[in-house]
Amino acid sequence: MRIVLFGPPGVGKGTQAQLLCEKYNMVKFSSGDLLREEVALSSPTGRKAEQFIKKGHLVPDDIIYELVDDFLVENAEQDILFDGFPRNLNQARSLEKSLAQLGQTIDIALEMHLDSAEIVGRLLGRRCCPKCGRIYNSTTTPPASDGFCDVDHTPLVRRDDDTEEIIRRRLGIYDEETRPLVDYYKSLNVYCRVDARGDRQTVFERISKAVNGHFNNRCRCN
Ligand code: AMP
Repeated sequence: MRIVLFGPPGVGKGTQAQLLCEKYNMVKFSSGDLLREEVALSSPTGRKAEQFIKKGHLVPDDIIYELVDDFLVENAEQDILFDGFPRNLNQARSLEKSLAQLGQTIDIALEMHLDSAEIVGRLLGRRCCPKCGRIYNSTTTPPASDGFCDVDHTPLVRRDDDTEEIIRRRLGIYDEETRPLVDYYKSLNVYCRVDARGDRQTVFERISKAVNGHFNNRCRCN
């Protein structure tokens, strides 16, 4: 099973990706998480990527391809969820090609959909655990103890790119670069749009329904 999960920044992809991986026993390829790890390690890749991430721009495709190609080979036998990748048509075509070389295809591309106004509010309230990566939101999914991770009690942090100016830039880039994936995946007959309003469990039920429906050939998302 190969699932692409895409949608604007702040729509809740990371949270839903985690739930999907647990339910369907998949491994996650999150380009954003891998890039942040490289930045934290201050590796050559991380140092190159950091300047783009800080400004809210997309990292050049060749950096992403290195990460994904290694991952596909290492996880050829696993079911994979792609979270935040692909981000543009070139990346989508490249992924298709890399999968074809392994005799695989994308089964379903889920787009999480939410109004821009709600997205900005969510991103400004987003906090992450720097240790385990769990994501919280001061309004929709607050931690049990204010400012601390429920899992390991590490103080929560705000991502450097979650400022209003950078958020607006990232949303603009999403419209220009990533939204064309809708038509691309429609043309491959694997596209499914999911309403991302509501709490994490409500959205997860919609996503699970879409995934189950797709595999039972009942997807009416297109
Ligand atoms: P995310 O955690 O998915 O919101 O990604 C954070 C940042 O990492 C983005 O704003 C981009 O700068 C960069 N990034 C993540 N994934 C990609 C990708 N597939 N292509 C290019 N840049 C990416």
